[in-house]
Amino acid sequence: MSLLLNPKKYRDRNYPDGRSKEIMLKMIDWFEEKGLAAQKEQYHDREFCADFQQFVTEEGIFETLFLPKGYGSDPKQYYSTYRMYEFSEICGFYGAAYWYTYHVSTLGLDPVLLGDNEEAKHKAAAKLKENALCAFGLSEKEHGADIYSSEMKLSPQPDGTYLANGSKYYIGNGNVASTVTVFGKIDGTDEYVFFVVDSAHPNYECIKNIVDVNQQFVAEFVLHDYPITDAEILSRGPKAWDDMLNTINICKFNIGSGATGIVTHSFYEALNHAYHRNLYGKKVTEFAHVKRLFTDSWLRIMGMKLFGLRATDYMRAANENDKRYRLYNPIMKMKVSIQGELVHEMLWDIIAAKGFEKDMYFEQAVAELRGFPKLEGTRHVNMALIAKIIPGYMFMPAEFEEIGRITDDRNDDFLFNQGTTHGYAKTKFHDFNIAYDSLSHLPNVKVFREQIKAYQEYLMVSGKVLAKQMMEFDYLLSVGELFTMVAYGQLIIESAKLEGISDEIMNQMFDLFVRDFSAFAVELYGKPINTDAQIEKILKMIKRPVPNKEEFEKILNEEVYSLVDVYVQNP
Ligand SMILES: Cc1cc2nc3c(=O)[nH]c(=O)nc-3n(C[C@H](O)[C@H](O)[C@H](O)COP(=O)(O)OP(=O)(O)OC[C@H]3O[C@@H](n4cnc5c(N)ncnc54)[C@H](O)[C@@H]3O)c2cc1C
Repeated sequence: MSLLLNPKKYRDRNYPDGRSKEIMLKMIDWFEEKGLAAQKEQYHDREFCADFQQFVTEEGIFETLFLPKGYGSDPKQYYSTYRMYEFSEICGFYGAAYWYTYHVSTLGLDPVLLGDNEEAKHKAAAKLKENALCAFGLSEKEHGADIYSSEMKLSPQPDGTYLANGSKYYIGNGNVASTVTVFGKIDGTDEYVFFVVDSAHPNYECIKNIVDVNQQFVAEFVLHDYPITDAEILSRGPKAWDDMLNTINICKFNIGSGATGIVTHSFYEALNHAYHRNLYGKKVTEFAHVKRLFTDSWLRIMGMKLFGLRATDYMRAANENDKRYRLYNPIMKMKVSIQGELVHEMLWDIIAAKGFEKDMYFEQAVAELRGFPKLEGTRHVNMALIAKIIPGYMFMPAEFEEIGRITDDRNDDFLFNQGTTHGYAKTKFHDFNIAYDSLSHLPNVKVFREQIKAYQEYLMVSGKVLAKQMMEFDYLLSVGELFTMVAYGQLIIESAKLEGISDEIMNQMFDLFVRDFSAFAVELYGKPINTDAQIEKILKMIKRPVPNKEEFEKILNEEVYSLVDVYVQNP
C-alpha cells in the first residue's frame, strides 16, 4: 500500500479502536459526498464552512480528537498526536478552510486544557457538543509577533470580578466560536492572564473578517466591558505565558500535516492530467524534464510524510527527560510546509495552464498553501528556536532508548504538562549518526554524510564568532537551513525503516537532499560576513549526487507513475 494519503483506500488503515477509524472515514465520506464541484463553488463564493462546523459538531469529532484523558463524555477518551496528524492531513487534502477551522479550534481550546481551572475545562468540553469551533485570541493589530506588548486588559472590580476591554486581530473562527480564549494583562500591571469569552455574548463585537479573500473567517473582535469572573480565568502570570507558548507548540504541528495533505491531492491531480494529455504524439509524462519534476515532487512528499510520522512519535514519547520534540516540531511547521511549496512549484511547471482552472483543486491549493509557512511564527521566528539547539545536537549526543512507531491509544500526557518554555539550548538528542550509519551503504547517503562532516568542520572553525554572526537573522537562516537538513534526513531515515521503504527510494531521496544541501551551502557562501576559514569549509559542503539512471527509472515507473488514476475526487 502506498504511504501517501489516498482517501479512497483509507479503509485499510489500522487504528487501536473503532472510534478513531470511524471519525476519519466519516469525514472522508462527507467530503467525497459533497464532491469537488460543490466544494469549489463554496470556495469561489468565499462561503464560511458552516456545513463543516455542523458536521463535526453533530459527530462529536473535535471532542474525540482534542480532549485529553479524563475529559468529555467518552470514558476511554485520550489525546493522540497521531490521530491529530491523520485528521489534519485529511482536512488539508480537501481544503485549507476546513483545515484552518479545525486548526484554530484546537489552538483555541488548548489554553483551557493547559490552564489551572478544572471547572472551565469541563465546561469547554461540554460546549463542544453545542458548537465544536473554538478560537485563539492572541494576536493584536499593532503588535504582531511582539506578544509582550499585548494591550487587552482585565480591570479588577470592587466586587472581585473583572471587566475585559481591548481588541484582537487575525483571530480565526472569531465570528462563531463559543470558546474564545483571550490573552491579555491585568490592568495597571505587567501580569499576563488567559481568560475565556463567548462570541455570542452581547459585549463581544465581531468587527469584520480581515482576510475576506477566501472561506476563512479571520476576525477582528472587540471586548467592551465584557464581564469576567474567576470561573473564566484560565491562568495568570508566568503560567499564562507558558500556556500560550505551549499551546502553539502543540498546535503548530498541524501545519506540517495539513500541508502534506494539500500537496498530496495536488500531486494526484497533476499526475492524472499529465498522464492523459498527449502532445506531439506522446504523453506529457514521457518528457524527460517532467519525469524529473514528478520524481522530485513525489520524493519530497514522501519525505514530508516520513518526517511527519516520525516527528509524531517524538511528540507522543515526550516526557520531562525527553524534549526532542522541541526541535522536530518547528521543523514540522516550517520545513515541511516549505517543502510543500516547492512541490507546488514543480507540479505547476508540469501542468501549466491547467493549474489556473477554477474547477481544479490545484488553483485553490497553490493559493492556500502559501499561508502555511507564515502561520504560528514566521520562518525566521521558528529558525531562531531551531538555531539554539545546533551545538547540543551536532556535538553532544545523549543516550535514549529507541522508540518505535506510536499509533496506540495512549494519552499524550506530557503535551499538556510541558512546564516552563525556557532551556531550549539544553535540550538533549540522541546521536544522528545512528540513523545515517544504518544507510551508509547507499552512495547518496555517503555523499550527504560528507556534507554533514563539512558542516561540522564549519561550525568548529567558526568558534565564538558564529554566535555574533547569527545575531544577523539573514545569516542565522542560512546556517539553520543546513542544520535542519541534518535532522530532517535523520528522522526520514528512522521513519523509512519503520515503514519498510526500499533502499532505492532512499538513495534517490538523498540524491535530492544532496542537491538541497549544496544549494543551501551556496546561499551561505554568498554571505558577506563569512571568514576565510568558514568559506573553505562551506565550499566542502557543495557536492553533487551520485547518478543512477536505472534506479531513477525504476522509482519513476514502479512508484511514481503507478499512482496514475489511483485517486480522483468525486465530481
Ligand atoms: C490567515 C491568518 C490567520 C491567523 N490566525 C490567527 C489566530 O487564529 N489567532 C491569533 O492569535 N493569531 C492569528 N494570526 C496571526 C499570526 O500568528 C501573526 O501573523 C503573527 O502573530 C505574526 O504577526 P505579523 O504577521 O503581524 O508579523 P510581525 O509581527 O509584524 O512580524 C514582521 C516581521 O518581523 C519578524 N520578527 C518578528 N519577531 C521577530 C523576532 N523575535 N526576531 C526576529 N524577527 C522577528 C518576522 O519574521 C516578520 O518577518 C493569523 C494570521 C494570519 C495571516
